[in-house]
Amino acid sequence: MNVIELKGIKKTYHLEELDVPVLHGIDLIIEQGEFVAIMGHSGSGKSTLLNILGLLDKPSEGSYKLAGIEISKYSDNELAALRNHYLGFVFQQFNLLPKLTILENVALPSMYSGSKDAQQHEDPAKLLEMVGLSERITHRPSEISGGQQQRVAIARALINKPLIIFADEPTGNLDTKSTREIIKILKDLNSSGITIVMVTHEPELTTYATRIIKVQDGLILSDEKNESESASVSKNHSRQFKRKPFSLARIKDYCVQAFGSLTGNKMRSILSILGVMIGVASLIAMLAVGTGAKKSIEDQVSGLGSNLLMVSPGSSQKQGISYDAGARMRILEEDIRDLELNIPEIEDEGIVGYITGRGQVVAKGNNYNTRVEGVSPNFPKTRGSYPVLGRFFTKGEDTLRARVAVLGKTVVKEIFGDEDFNPVGEYIKINRIDFQVIGVLPPKGSKGWRDEDDKVLIPLNTAMYRFAGSKELHYLDVQVKSDADMNEVGEDIKTRLLLTHRLPSSERDAVRVINMAEIQAAMEAMGKAFSLLLGSIAFISLLVGGIGIMNIMFVSVSERTKEIGLRKAIGANNTDILFQFIIESIFVCCVGGLIGIIVGAGISFIISKFADWDTIITPFSIVLGFGFSVFIGLIFGVWPARKASLLNPIDALRHD
Ligand code: ADP
Ligand code: MG
Repeated sequence: MNVIELKGIKKTYHLEELDVPVLHGIDLIIEQGEFVAIMGHSGSGKSTLLNILGLLDKPSEGSYKLAGIEISKYSDNELAALRNHYLGFVFQQFNLLPKLTILENVALPSMYSGSKDAQQHEDPAKLLEMVGLSERITHRPSEISGGQQQRVAIARALINKPLIIFADEPTGNLDTKSTREIIKILKDLNSSGITIVMVTHEPELTTYATRIIKVQDGLILSDEKNESESASVSKNHSRQFKRKPFSLARIKDYCVQAFGSLTGNKMRSILSILGVMIGVASLIAMLAVGTGAKKSIEDQVSGLGSNLLMVSPGSSQKQGISYDAGARMRILEEDIRDLELNIPEIEDEGIVGYITGRGQVVAKGNNYNTRVEGVSPNFPKTRGSYPVLGRFFTKGEDTLRARVAVLGKTVVKEIFGDEDFNPVGEYIKINRIDFQVIGVLPPKGSKGWRDEDDKVLIPLNTAMYRFAGSKELHYLDVQVKSDADMNEVGEDIKTRLLLTHRLPSSERDAVRVINMAEIQAAMEAMGKAFSLLLGSIAFISLLVGGIGIMNIMFVSVSERTKEIGLRKAIGANNTDILFQFIIESIFVCCVGGLIGIIVGAGISFIISKFADWDTIITPFSIVLGFGFSVFIGLIFGVWPARKASLLNPIDALRHD
């Protein structure tokens, strides 16, 4: 039977500018059981021919029949299956996978045969025994000599009971003794019926061959039978070739390969995991800090209250010198009543007067300096701030200048040592004057520029007569009815105050009206700008993380092109390669992603501890960070592998 039939095989390598024709039309028939030695000068095209014969490369032109079947039109995957089932290849450079043991190297092709049927392939341990290496099965390729490595490579070529073994200068890197051993093994294999096609330079080896073909300049120069050696009796090698369908067992094989490769290259795996981890962690930490800051702004905004005008004496400026506020207008409690009576757009009892200052609060031997605010008794209603403990002071207490105080949470904590302490009924001194605590304000909790809980409220009249020593109010909060135009009401207030204080209308600057709704809008705009900033930060850290992941994946895969070439040469098809890399990438990405989530949360926690800044980790940031990194990791873990798997096996093998 003719195992190989070539007709008019031509091969031209296409370089960038230049076409290099190497084979110029080779006709060749090889029968089963032959031991063919191909000889010729270096550069004559021997390897090119052998690679085409071994299905590692494709001819540019011509017909190739393997065991009678025309295969020029076969797909890559069909060729992979043919290599796996019918052909064995022995390279000059051995091409063992360095991270696998010798036994694993030998067993590798059987994995891609997709058959667990023991009949279909040999026992790798027995093969190693046959080539005299049974003692070394757990060693790695780097731990044995070149001759031994080549024997392992031959054992690997035999694992799927091939019809033909191709060997390209198998002894080119070996000493004489090893060379003899290798040739003996090949001869024995030939005697057992396997067809052997070998490229060699050594004339003495050719005595074993049954046929010697000389190649020169891409053509067959001579083709002689070696009469002293006769082709071995061909055994019937006919074997049903079918690829088992996809199964769980295959997935398991892929996982074994993927994990072997991950643990075999620890440094590379750790770097990849690190890349993913940094991407995920930075995103989560960034978003946590940003979301916390945004929340803080939102709290401030909602704490401001809408429909509120702040009225204060204006400060007049003359020649750049700022005079004291109130130099021209003193707002008094009578003004509150007057405004309420005369401007109908103001809510009933909607004006709160303030006298503010700082005071030294003392109780139980603790001393604390805080903001003291004298406020009108309608403060809780107007500001929506009812005491959480005790009560607020009444109108009567205000009129009587009662010495009662309502404390903010921070003050409670500073003076009584515990935020949750109930101070109602306790006596404290404010600037050496005794006060009784009657309530505690609801916590505002807002951080940022001012602690809203760090204050003490006392009745407005108490503040006037016992504290400030003046009846002058520092400012008014005016609550405007919701359907009124805030700016119009503001102007009305100015006009009215100027009128009652007998100031000409040219002195409108004497009163200052701040529209809190406008401030609120400004802060909301700031919040929006912050969201945008956050978005960009997230985007950038995703980008940086993604590029990091991409790089490490890309580097590791181009480093692995050779491995891909070898796997393909022994029969892995593109799906096999892809699955192994997908599993590796998924594993790397998930491990990196999970560690990244933990590290990101840790960083957020540390930031909130040390920077006294709330950080908020949202499920969204976790999903985004993890999802994106895994996505990038997968794409860039798999895409280069896919690219490499599309190369001819021989081109991938030559990659460096
Ligand atoms: P041999 O094995 O007989 O020494 P080869 O088959 O390796 O020769 O090479 C034959 C010719 O083809 C040489 O001139 C070599 O430079 C050229 N050649 C081999 N491989 C390639 C390639 N991948 N690209 C371009 N030229 C190549
Ligand atoms: Mg060569």
